[in-house]
Amino acid sequence: MSISYLSDRALPPSYYEASAGKRVDYPTLAGSVDCDVCVAGGGLAGLHTALNLAEQGLRVVLLEAHRVGWGASGRNGGHVIPEFACGMKTLEDALGNDAAQRCWTLAQEGAERVRQRIATFGIDCDYRVGHIEAAVTPRHAGHLREWQERAGRLYDRKYRYIDRAEMRQFVGSDRYHGGLLDSTGGHLHPLRFTLGMARALTATGGMIFENSAVQSWQDGATVAVRAGGGEIRAKTLVLACNVGMESIAGSEPQRLARRILPVGTWIIATAPLADALADELLPTRAAVADNRVVLDYFRLSADNRMVFGGGCSYLGEGTPAGFAESLRNGMIKVFPQLARTPIDFQWGGVIDISMTRAPDFGRLKNASGKPGNVYYAQGFSGSGLVATAAAGRVLAEAVTGDSANLDMFMRLTNLPFPGGPMLRGPLTAAGMLWARLRDQF
Ligand SMILES: Cc1cc2nc3c(=O)[nH]c(=O)nc-3n(C[C@H](O)[C@H](O)[C@H](O)COP(=O)(O)OP(=O)(O)OC[C@H]3O[C@@H](n4cnc5c(N)ncnc54)[C@H](O)[C@@H]3O)c2cc1C
Repeated sequence: MSISYLSDRALPPSYYEASAGKRVDYPTLAGSVDCDVCVAGGGLAGLHTALNLAEQGLRVVLLEAHRVGWGASGRNGGHVIPEFACGMKTLEDALGNDAAQRCWTLAQEGAERVRQRIATFGIDCDYRVGHIEAAVTPRHAGHLREWQERAGRLYDRKYRYIDRAEMRQFVGSDRYHGGLLDSTGGHLHPLRFTLGMARALTATGGMIFENSAVQSWQDGATVAVRAGGGEIRAKTLVLACNVGMESIAGSEPQRLARRILPVGTWIIATAPLADALADELLPTRAAVADNRVVLDYFRLSADNRMVFGGGCSYLGEGTPAGFAESLRNGMIKVFPQLARTPIDFQWGGVIDISMTRAPDFGRLKNASGKPGNVYYAQGFSGSGLVATAAAGRVLAEAVTGDSANLDMFMRLTNLPFPGGPMLRGPLTAAGMLWARLRDQF
C-alpha cells in the first residue's frame, strides 16, 4: 500500500491552516505558457529554488498540485535546525571530510537564508531563536556530549551543553538527562512562512498556478510540461514534489520515487496555555526535540499552544486511528502538567525519507545520456525547513551554470528501497521497531 498523496482526505487540516490569516488564491493553469524555468511543487524546496532564480531575472513558473503549502512545508513542526537529517557522520563517510564541511556550511547558510527571507520580505511567521536537542536516557546524553565535542572540533560549532540539574531552566519536565542548546536554530509558523515565500516569489516576477498537478513532461531542447489544464514550455524543469514524484507519469519520475519512502508523521496542538504555565513548561521558549530515532518534538506557538509532534506510520494510507491519543499520552509523559489541557487540533503530513536519510538532489540525463534540463530535490527525510533552503540555492546555482555543489550531492548514492511499493513500508517499519526498542535503554 502506498499513501495516496494527492488525496485531500488522507490528511486532516492543521492548526496552521486555522491561524494562517488571509491567503492569496493563485489561478489554475490553462493554455500554454513559455518560461525559462518551470518548478513543480509549491513547498519550500520549490519556492526557495524559484525565488532564487526569479531574483536573477529568469522567467519562473511554479506549479502546485493543490494549494501552496499543502504538503509538508505547511504542516510541519516548525523547528528550524541547521543540519541535514542524516547527520554529519553519514555525509563524512559518503563524501569525505572536505565535502562534508561544504554540506555543513550550506546548512548553516540555509538557516541564515530562512532568517533573511523573513526579514527581507517582512514575512510574519513568529520566528523565535533557540533549539534544544534533549536526551531521554543517560546513553542519549552521552551521544549529545560526543556530538558537542565533534561539532566544536570539526565544524567550529559551540553548542551549550545543559546538564540534568540545569534542564528545568529550559524544559519544565523531569524527563531529560541533558540537552544541547543551539542558538542558530529556532522555530516558526511554517505555513505562514511558506505562504510568505509564495508572495515573495510573485512580487519578484514569478508566476504561481495552484490545482495544477504536473502529469508528465517531454524532454527536448525545451521541456514540455503537461499540468492542470494546460502546458508549460520551459528551458528547464525542477521537480520539488516531495513524495509526489510517483504521481508523475514516466519511467524517470517512477525511478526517483522508488528511492523515497512516504512516511506519515503527526502533531497535536493544545488550547492556549496561561502565561504562567507556558513560562513553567518552556521558560526560554526554545523548541525541543529529543535525539531518539522516533522522536518527540515540541514548542510553544505564539499564542501559547503546546505544538507536540512525534510518531511515524509506514503501513498504509491516511491518518492512523488513535494517533492523537497516543501523542497526548506522549506529551503528558513529558509534561504531566498538561493532563487536563484540551487538544484543539490534530493533523499530520508525509515526509520523504531516503534509505540513509541523506538528501537526494540531482540532474537527470537526456536521451543521449548527457546531463539534461530536468533537476530534482527530494529525500529531506523529516528535517527540511533548513535543508530546502540549501536545496534551493544548490539547484538555482546549477540551473544558472555553476553545478559544483550539485555535483557534490550527486556523489551520494541513494538506493531504491527494497521490497518495492508493496513491501518497502512493512520492511522499514520492522527496522524502525528494532530502533525504537533499542532507544528505550
Ligand atoms: C508532520 C511533519 C512535521 C515536520 N516537522 C519538521 C520540523 O519541525 N523541522 C523540519 O526541518 N522539517 C520538518 N518536517 C519536514 C519538512 O516539512 C519537509 O522536509 C519539507 O517541508 C519538504 O519540503 P518540500 O518542498 O520538499 O515538500 P512539500 O512541502 O511536501 O512540497 C511539495 C509540494 O509538491 C506538490 N506536488 C506533489 N506532486 C506534484 C505534482 N505532480 N505537480 C505539482 N505539484 C506537486 C505537493 O502538493 C506539495 O505541496 C516535517 C514534516 C512533517 C510532515
